[in-house]
Amino acid sequence: MTMTTRHPQGEAIAASTRWQAQSENSESQKQPLDKIFGADVFDTRSMRKRLTRETFEALERAMDGRERLSAQDADVVAKAMKDWAVERGATHFTHWFQPMTGLTAEKHDALLTPDGEGHLVSKLSGKSLIQGEPDASSFPSGGLRATFEARGYTAWDVSSPAFLLRGANYATLCIPTAFVSWNGEALDKKTPLLRSIEALSTQAMRILKIFGTDEGVRTVGSSLGAEQEYFLVDRNLFYARPDLVSCDRTLFGATPPKHQQLDDHYFGSIPPRVLSFMSEAEEELARLGIPVQTRHNEVAPGQYEFAPLFESTNIACDHQALTMETIKRVAGRYGFAAILHEKPFAGMNGSGKHNNWSLSTDTGVNLLDPQDETHTNLQFMTFVCAVMRAVHLHGDVLRATIASASNDHRLGANEAPPAIISMFLGDMLTDLIGQLETGTPSRTIKGGELDLGANALPALKRDSGDRNRTSPLAFTGNKFEFRAVGSAASVAWPNTVINTIVSESLDFIADEFERVGGEHPSGEGRDLAVKQILARIITEHKAVLFDGDGYTEEWEVEAEKRGLPNLRSTADALPVLNEPKVRTMFAKYGVLTNDELESRVEIFREKYASQMRIEAEQMVVIARTMILPAVCQHQRNLAETVASTEGAGVDCPELRDELDGFVGLVGQLREATIILTEAGVPPGLDSQETCRFFRDSVIPIMDAVRSISDRLEGLVEASLWPLPTYSELLTLR
Ligand code: ADP
Ligand code: MG
Repeated sequence: MTMTTRHPQGEAIAASTRWQAQSENSESQKQPLDKIFGADVFDTRSMRKRLTRETFEALERAMDGRERLSAQDADVVAKAMKDWAVERGATHFTHWFQPMTGLTAEKHDALLTPDGEGHLVSKLSGKSLIQGEPDASSFPSGGLRATFEARGYTAWDVSSPAFLLRGANYATLCIPTAFVSWNGEALDKKTPLLRSIEALSTQAMRILKIFGTDEGVRTVGSSLGAEQEYFLVDRNLFYARPDLVSCDRTLFGATPPKHQQLDDHYFGSIPPRVLSFMSEAEEELARLGIPVQTRHNEVAPGQYEFAPLFESTNIACDHQALTMETIKRVAGRYGFAAILHEKPFAGMNGSGKHNNWSLSTDTGVNLLDPQDETHTNLQFMTFVCAVMRAVHLHGDVLRATIASASNDHRLGANEAPPAIISMFLGDMLTDLIGQLETGTPSRTIKGGELDLGANALPALKRDSGDRNRTSPLAFTGNKFEFRAVGSAASVAWPNTVINTIVSESLDFIADEFERVGGEHPSGEGRDLAVKQILARIITEHKAVLFDGDGYTEEWEVEAEKRGLPNLRSTADALPVLNEPKVRTMFAKYGVLTNDELESRVEIFREKYASQMRIEAEQMVVIARTMILPAVCQHQRNLAETVASTEGAGVDCPELRDELDGFVGLVGQLREATIILTEAGVPPGLDSQETCRFFRDSVIPIMDAVRSISDRLEGLVEASLWPLPTYSELLTLR
């Protein structure tokens, strides 16, 4: 039987039916995850197996950042890597990098070259492993280069392992690289991240020296576990919505009667088709050595989450980019489209990317682990105070770091952290901070046990404090969770910034200690000096601590009294990055030069403006070519009904009123659409003024167009409405 529908929903169902048939057959084919974990990664184990001891050790030194790899060793490593890849079916290699826009970039070169005698031989030289030269002119540089200055280099990042990306008929060896201009200026997200990791290590080591815990420690790194939220919708419905296709969010759509009010989706049972998708995505991620730990439904219908096990930040950032791409790629195979946008559906929860960040030594010690008797752990308190000072001094920078057109829809809305950056420490740490401010801490609040009142249930170990889900930056046990990061964002930039601002505070503390505590390098004298420094930091910076409900208006008022900035939109937030104190900091720690930082801000602004322009234009197109024709048809039907009813000699004043009201609303939509069409950016505005123009003069009109259209959606005959509705999109079959 063929069904005719106004959307290709029939197809969507068919796709899921195909999925069912396929899934019933493939149950037995699933391989255990531990067998395939890391199978597509040229990891330490594969390297050790394929390299001589000397070369492997040289490579290890390069991976730890102690020494650069020599040209001879690079040749040997390249050959081993190439053999490993070719044995696994690779035909091409690529320098894989993360440009300033988009997720990742790759340009493939063949691993096989003719040998001059009619055969192909495989080849990868040390030189092509270490350095590549993609044409840089098509990537945004934010004014660092003119378009004709095309030269750019990719440089192998030894610390992140090479891997294979596979698909039907292909396997490509991907070599993680940094991407810089001919002058060596960073054109990507990785270069400043690596620089910030080194800065952090240098400063954190100074703190360890103070406490005499640096023995055997070579480096301190940051660790990262980034939880990824996303939506899944039926692929065919996705493609029936031009707004989803070009903006990854719905520009129109009335809230359906039932969405997330009953809280029945969060942690609910995962629909089988989704679970099959998740399993396959996990399998692909496992092959890439990406340890996915958690999967569950999120708050909104159609919303889900993947959380990995944490890793060192550089690798975690590469893995996060791969995770986003894998989610998108695998979703298609199950008849889904994955949406990573922060707010695809108005009126429903948006998606974030909780950025779990901690500090640990290369010997495996988590420096943010409070341990049992926390009040005796002065080193831990030093790191916590450093983060607190950093967040108070640079909350505006953190806010700017997560600013984007898409995240603007989420921050400050009712399910996401507010745009005010504050910090939550929980009962135990708050108590400890209070003790430390006024003297020597003498107690650690304990959580104790929970008796559930039935012997069949175990006594539970209770945490020493509750959680706070409204805080943008929360201490969660042994790490800080930065919750304001957007689901579509790369995590490299937020972590670059966290590392940099924390480096600055660690540097400050180490300097202070050298100034006042130098004469007591150890023992009680040292502790006293440190406590005095920390007490002062607490007094000066405790205004950033907030344990209450961050969603309330009272908090906005209170935060203003405390002098905490509330930068509501991207246009408000981005200028922070060009402030002298911020430039000085990035330059001082060698993370970004003034030019590099300025160019980045320029790129962020251009990206914001382009995205807004696309959305506004897309909105006009949908209003004119889909919604207005549909509502005119409905208007005609109404008018004909009125005419024929009255023609039959029956009065129908209610129908006439309805027609009247409807015609009025259609008129409003037409008028608002015309205003939006004419709301072009006036000539002569610079990039910051352009952002402000969108904020003040375009977004309000877009809101008006949408709200009129959403009212019409509730009035028009269902079969005439030209876009799949929220109910249709959010119900997975
Ligand atoms: P929560 O219950 O607070 O969400 P989980 O233990 O479930 O905490 O972890 C959430 C995320 O935090 C996971 O991705 C996890 O790997 C990550 N995480 C845990 N410990 C650390 C750490 N020391 N550094 C960075 N991320 C961490
Ligand atoms: Mg979490």
